[in-house]
Amino acid sequence: MDYEMVPFEAISAEIALDFEAAAVSVRPWSSTAHAAAKTKLKSALLAFQKGRCAYCRRFIRDEVGHLEIDHILPKASFGDPLDWGSNDNELRKSTAGYPAFTFVPFNLALTCKRCNNKKGTYDCRVDRSAAASSFYNLDSQFYSWLHPYLDSYPEHITLVEGMIYQATLGSAKGSRVIEVCRLDKLAAVERLAAQVKTKNARAIGKAIGLLLEMVDHYGWDLIADVVQERFPEASMDYIWKRIEAFKVAMTD
Ligand SMILES: [Zn+2]
Repeated sequence: MDYEMVPFEAISAEIALDFEAAAVSVRPWSSTAHAAAKTKLKSALLAFQKGRCAYCRRFIRDEVGHLEIDHILPKASFGDPLDWGSNDNELRKSTAGYPAFTFVPFNLALTCKRCNNKKGTYDCRVDRSAAASSFYNLDSQFYSWLHPYLDSYPEHITLVEGMIYQATLGSAKGSRVIEVCRLDKLAAVERLAAQVKTKNARAIGKAIGLLLEMVDHYGWDLIADVVQERFPEASMDYIWKRIEAFKVAMTD
């Protein structure tokens, strides 16, 4: 785990000013008028998050459609107004929304598309029965969710062998992220992606090469397994020998 939380200094004075200007403009979040501000925020967060998604910690590519900005407190209302004040976990995707925090940089995290989609409008304010404050709260206890600027990732989520997500010491925040973002399903998702990637590889070395970008997060075991599935006639010993050669080449 190469960073614990996003430091406040990730939001430079320049980014803060850009977002203040965006907040007072009448244009919605999706307006292209905010594109420059969002691009600046994305590149700053990508650097401070070491290229990883705030919730699943997989590497995210700096390309359209891969990298998204999550509103930690959702920006718009959704669902049945009768459920908006409920603290029942099942009803938390129904929310009054927090339009006042749409352009607050500390409410914005960089995530992968999958985590952003799974989280959706999930409302992580601890006590939703109370009226929302007009200022953005920077107290970790205000959120029933791992807040990327306020909470240390390893204190709430432990990654075992790169793919198994566990709530650290039963952390409620960690459990919530694992459950809502379905991080328990990621191992299967990544395995499938690896299988698709190597489907047309005709040689073992080629298949290993195609999977190298997954190594940092998922480790060599997954790669060895997937390569063996693709080339069932090859022995695991032989596959590991080829992998060792890649490791040597990568450290040169
Ligand atoms: Zn993610």
